[in-house]
Amino acid sequence: MKKTIILMTLLLLTGCAAPTAEAPEEPPVIEAPVDELPAEQETNTDGTNEENHDLTEEDIIASIDMSLNPNELGEIMILMYHGIGPEESVWQRTPDNFRKDLEYMYQNGYRMISLNDYAKGEIKTEAGFTPIILTFDDGRQNNFNLIEENGEMVLDTDCAIGILEEFKNKYPDFNVTASFFLGTNLFGRKEYAEKKLNWLIDNGYDLGNHTYSHNEMAELNPDEIQIEIGSVNNIIKQYLPDYAVETLSLPLGSNPKDEFIESMLEGEYDGNKYNTIAVLDVGWRPAYSPFDILTNFNSLYRVTASEINVDNCGIYDYFKQYDENKRERFISDGNPDVVTIPKRHNEYLNMDIVGDRIVNVY
Ligand SMILES: [Zn+2]
Repeated sequence: MKKTIILMTLLLLTGCAAPTAEAPEEPPVIEAPVDELPAEQETNTDGTNEENHDLTEEDIIASIDMSLNPNELGEIMILMYHGIGPEESVWQRTPDNFRKDLEYMYQNGYRMISLNDYAKGEIKTEAGFTPIILTFDDGRQNNFNLIEENGEMVLDTDCAIGILEEFKNKYPDFNVTASFFLGTNLFGRKEYAEKKLNWLIDNGYDLGNHTYSHNEMAELNPDEIQIEIGSVNNIIKQYLPDYAVETLSLPLGSNPKDEFIESMLEGEYDGNKYNTIAVLDVGWRPAYSPFDILTNFNSLYRVTASEINVDNCGIYDYFKQYDENKRERFISDGNPDVVTIPKRHNEYLNMDIVGDRIVNVY
């Protein structure tokens, strides 16, 4: 019975969450009468249609709005949140302060992307905007909480997900998403874990690994590392058999010994393999662009989303520096297949990550 109610509540939440803003206008489709088609229409060997094939690299680059000063080697902040609760502390933001953060981001040109997309260099951010990544460690109940209201379990509007969903409705083009890093705590009450995890994946959020025991990775040998990562992956797999957990946030920001990094990136536990594509540190500065040679995907910087004891390295310190042009933030060119960079950064471009994408240097 309970399960049905929650499912219905969650479905209702999704159902009611339909954005009210107008859908972007699609260009009208013009259908040519069949007999007006050229007799022998070329089909490309790779199966792509002719329209795309006709676009040369120059055409694609020419379609980029350079007046927006795109800079895809600028910095991207990976924000580190923990709790959302009534008392503000280093490890907890109040609901109103979290709302303040989100409002600031939206009004100042930041749009969310997932950590997984960042790690793959798939930046789909609208032209002229800066990607930003939200992460939550520890799987606290106040990240995703259900409360009883008139005998039904409903989403707590002051938990992290409650507030994120509020902004998803308020600003559909914010691209609201976040990664939640879990250990053995799956947002508190175990009986709701399955529904919560499924709901998160179905609604555009991601799950990451925060290890089983929350021990310092530097103290562990390869076998212990595999148990720490693999067992959490297997717990999540019980609820989400088809979901691959590919990201890891290091407890206490402790990196494994250099010779054991491989066990963190690839391993096997209890018959299940894992692969890690992005590993997060704790604090204290923005990450580089995924296309920057300085980016170490095995040890990515994060910015503490707090205003207490941040030692001039908190979220608003960096917002201010970007605002005053004291640091360079990533500004998207709007085309995920093109990497647009100012000439002065040319030598920092990591062609392994750029891959098949078109490079546009100006
Ligand atoms: Zn933690």
